[in-house]
Amino acid sequence: MSTYKRLPVAFRRGAGAWLWDEEGSQYLDAVGGIAVCALGHAHPAIRDALCDQAGQLAHTSNLYGIPLQERLASRLSALSGMQTAFFCNSGAEANEAAIKIARLYGHEKGIRCPVVVVMEGAFHGRTLATLSATGNREIQAGFEPLVPGFLRVPYSDLEALRMAAGRCADAVAVLLEPIQGEAGIVVPNEGYLEGVRAVCDDQGWLMMLDEVQTGMCRTGQWFAFQHERTLPDVMTLAKALGNGMPIGACLARGRAGEIMQPGTHGSTFGGNPLACRVALAVIEIMEKDRLMVRAAELGQRMLSRFRRLMEGEEGVKAIRGKGLMIGIELERPCADLAAMALNQKLLVNVTAGNVVRLLPPLVINDGEADQIVDRVSDVVLSFLQWSRKGSQ
Ligand SMILES: *Cc1c(COP(=O)(O)O)cnc(C)c1O
Repeated sequence: MSTYKRLPVAFRRGAGAWLWDEEGSQYLDAVGGIAVCALGHAHPAIRDALCDQAGQLAHTSNLYGIPLQERLASRLSALSGMQTAFFCNSGAEANEAAIKIARLYGHEKGIRCPVVVVMEGAFHGRTLATLSATGNREIQAGFEPLVPGFLRVPYSDLEALRMAAGRCADAVAVLLEPIQGEAGIVVPNEGYLEGVRAVCDDQGWLMMLDEVQTGMCRTGQWFAFQHERTLPDVMTLAKALGNGMPIGACLARGRAGEIMQPGTHGSTFGGNPLACRVALAVIEIMEKDRLMVRAAELGQRMLSRFRRLMEGEEGVKAIRGKGLMIGIELERPCADLAAMALNQKLLVNVTAGNVVRLLPPLVINDGEADQIVDRVSDVVLSFLQWSRKGSQ
């Protein structure tokens, strides 16, 4: 089905941050499979884990014990401060699990129609519940009736959240991204997550963080909430967790972590030995190569180089990000910029209409980081020049 408007290229092979198309041309990849390929393409240790596990056991189902799944749950819990885990195959599914936990939690409190507070600009996925939680009309349009039970407030606005608490007695949880990805790399005010935590504690709400894009070292911490002194009740992961092997996770602690019981939720594929083995290898490499430190260093390096090359240029509205999650907001729509970059053998993503989004692999070296900045800046500045000419 034509669910995607694709660029006119197909890749045959990759290594690190580099890709080769069917004709053998080489590209520099600053998209990383949309924050999935944190370890770059064709990482040898991931290949080895995948092949070795495929030769032993790929799948048995959740009807039986799965030691690799238990090991992955403990590793993720130790890294995040969560206590229990449910495994699935995507970010949307992980958020579905979080929303179901919130509903069970609400019913347990005697609330018949529990409400989850969500954010303007949020992106949580494409299933019916997650697109209903998403704060983007284009993603919802045509799929009405939406799933009820969501209340929307502005992002990075604690006063609005407190007012929602006063207004809605049936609210039981808040679901948000620590940094909004699809909305254009929107970094909230400092202290925002701690503030959200305080409101949740006051109200007895679950604080549920969607770390599908921000998690797994991307922003310079294992999980983005770790930049602040706070701990959510529920956290969802996917994207980089499998480096391309589909896997998602919903982690929880306290009451939220115990509320799912046999029969309340499930997944045929979720948490199978193959996916869990790969995710364990991802964590091992991230730890061994100190990729969260690297993401922080590289992010600083790239942001300051971007600012040197582009700040103050006419048409450049903002340069922002955290770790290797970087957005360059332009004053005009720039959907065409991805195709222009492709012509220069460079992969970038455009989101929210006017934000060039960069999510490169965390394994790039300093030279590759500089190359991304130089080449992206070139493309952005030529785009701006070209579009100014077009509009005259
Ligand atoms: C990508 C993304 C999702 C959806 O993940 P899928 O695997 O495409 O279902 C959900 N939340 C956030 C923050 C994302 O970036």
